[in-house]
Amino acid sequence: MKKTLNILFLILYSNLIVFTGQAASLDSLEQLLVLAVQEKQPVKQTELYVEMGELAYSKRNYPKAIEQFNRALDLIKEQSIDVPLSPILMDLGKSYNKNDNYKEAISTFLQLVKIEKPINGEILDKIYHYLSKAYQNAGNTELAYEYGLKALELRETRKDLKGILRSTYQLGGIFFYQGNYKMALEYYHTTKKLAIEQNEKKYCYNSLAAIGGSLSRLGRFDEAIIFDMEAYELAKEMDYALGLAYSTHNIGTAYYEKMAYDTALVFFQKSLEIKKKLNDRWGQTASLRYIGNTYFEMGNFEKCIEFMTTSLELAKTIQSLPRLIEGHDALADTYEKMENWEAAYFHRTKYAKLRDSLITETTTQKLGDTKTRYEVQQSEMALQEKDKQMELTFRYGALGVFGLLGLLIWSLISRNRHQIEVNEVLTEKNQQIQEQNQQLAHTNEQLELAFQQIREQNKKLENSNMELQRFAFIASHDLKEPLRTIGSYANLLKRRYKNRLDTDANEFLDFITSGVGRMYNLLNDVLAFSRLEEKETESEIINVHEVINIVRANLGQQIKDKQAILNIQPALPNILMDSNHLSQVLQNLISNGIKFSTYQPTIEIACENRKGFHIFSVSDNGIGIEKKYQEKIFEMFQRLDRQYDGTGIGLAVCKKIINQYGGDIWVESTEGKGSTFYFSVPVTEVGKTQNQAMAVEAI
Ligand code: ADP
Repeated sequence: MKKTLNILFLILYSNLIVFTGQAASLDSLEQLLVLAVQEKQPVKQTELYVEMGELAYSKRNYPKAIEQFNRALDLIKEQSIDVPLSPILMDLGKSYNKNDNYKEAISTFLQLVKIEKPINGEILDKIYHYLSKAYQNAGNTELAYEYGLKALELRETRKDLKGILRSTYQLGGIFFYQGNYKMALEYYHTTKKLAIEQNEKKYCYNSLAAIGGSLSRLGRFDEAIIFDMEAYELAKEMDYALGLAYSTHNIGTAYYEKMAYDTALVFFQKSLEIKKKLNDRWGQTASLRYIGNTYFEMGNFEKCIEFMTTSLELAKTIQSLPRLIEGHDALADTYEKMENWEAAYFHRTKYAKLRDSLITETTTQKLGDTKTRYEVQQSEMALQEKDKQMELTFRYGALGVFGLLGLLIWSLISRNRHQIEVNEVLTEKNQQIQEQNQQLAHTNEQLELAFQQIREQNKKLENSNMELQRFAFIASHDLKEPLRTIGSYANLLKRRYKNRLDTDANEFLDFITSGVGRMYNLLNDVLAFSRLEEKETESEIINVHEVINIVRANLGQQIKDKQAILNIQPALPNILMDSNHLSQVLQNLISNGIKFSTYQPTIEIACENRKGFHIFSVSDNGIGIEKKYQEKIFEMFQRLDRQYDGTGIGLAVCKKIINQYGGDIWVESTEGKGSTFYFSVPVTEVGKTQNQAMAVEAI
């Protein structure tokens, strides 16, 4: 029931707006908002925030407008609502500007440039215009001028007369603020001419007042008063309060300069009153300061300081850096004249600090601005990429546009050399960035190409490796057969004809049989090595002690011959590995330990746990290995001392096996004292639990 009523209210209310044609009041919009929230209609909610913002803006309630527009933007972001952001951002930026929040205004408009530049050149002129205003208010004249010119360019191309009028006025203002009153006058006279042609009363007034102001600054006070008076009359005729405020102020300034202080004071006071009514705080700061100056000239220092301090306080509330700088400067001057050095020093220091910060801020803003331009350019480039196909079709059209652009650029060159220079530097920078990007892209391409080649080479290497392995396997396997025949027949010869052959022949036969034996071992080792790759590993939890027992049995004869002692650490862990692999590794290491010794060999086998690995060690008290060979010995066919039997394959086999399990193998040795071979095997979860179980059992 309640819901139906709500909907009814909504319909009735929207009809009321349509029929009466009246704008909604803030209250009624707020009621509608409550309904939209209850009905969970975020889109409607957003529309209402925007509407409330617009209403507040039209009523000059800028803080409220800012609040509403920001709410709308937050909601759009939160709920990912698909509505165009630009109009809201534009309103928000304007509200910030009006509310003297220049920094926020700048960042909002810069955000807008990013959104609009690649898609819509049409509203760009407005954005540039507002940016120019915001920068001017924030005291960054250079950027204010740059954006002002940009807006003017766009408007001239579009022959937007109203826009051009606004731009010339804005540019005049920038020169005026910079103190370049001659240039300002030029722009203001153009504005006046355009305003009369277009019958734009407000701009007629604005230009008249501005001309008066500029003349006055140039010391042409009598001429100034004529223009100011004309402006004053026009403002009166138009019932234009802000106009009255400014022309009275300007008249005051002219009289002040003519040293007619009493008259000046009357005009300044009047201007201040009007500005107060209009809540124009920016304007008030100037009036207050001028009143202060006038009192000073009249010798009333107390009043002078009072007004100047109020002006400064007001400048603080609107956070206007230029006004604060002016305020401190004026106070410092006044105190200096009054010979109050302490107070003068205070304000002079403040003045200097603020000026510095303004310069730093300008640089920072410039940097930010360059960044924005770069980002905009990036997105433009992305779009250009997409439209490449279309571009081909429109090439001739584009050529025409370029031609026009060329003309425009040419006209701009002749109109303002300085701007062109700035643009040239920027273009050069952009070009550099583009070139760098191209270089990067090129380097990336080359890298990609190199990677591709490496990948191909790796593939080839893998293939030839596999072929080699297959070859090694086939060769060693097939060679064994004829070798066996040679060996058997040599043995047969020895056995049957031993007594009929002389000693030399018998010795030769011995050479043959021992050579055959060595070659047989070699083939066996090569075969074992080549088999390592192709054989699937069958990992299981193995008891290392059991494996060592098997190895000990295999090496029984060697151990006996050399009377070798084997000391095994009592608690070796269980590990996850193929038991054949582990026995191959241990057998090679133990056998080497026994083989490469000059007196009774003692072999120690131990294990410790380090950083997720079981580190096994097999130490001997043998001949040791020179430092420089300690890595080489793990390569195929590397043998250091030919007086010991061997093929130079054993350690290569060990390395290959251990690497297959993600471990490593290495040696530490001192020549003549012995060697310790280490190999690591990763600790696995299964192995861990088994070991824990074993430990519990042991307890
Ligand atoms: P092989 O033992 O068949 O010669 P290996 O690959 O097992 O082949 O060993 C390569 C070389 O490393 C050996 O020829 C020897 O010079 C050296 N070496 C290996 N183990 C030891 C050791 N424990 N003590 C001294 N030298 C060793």
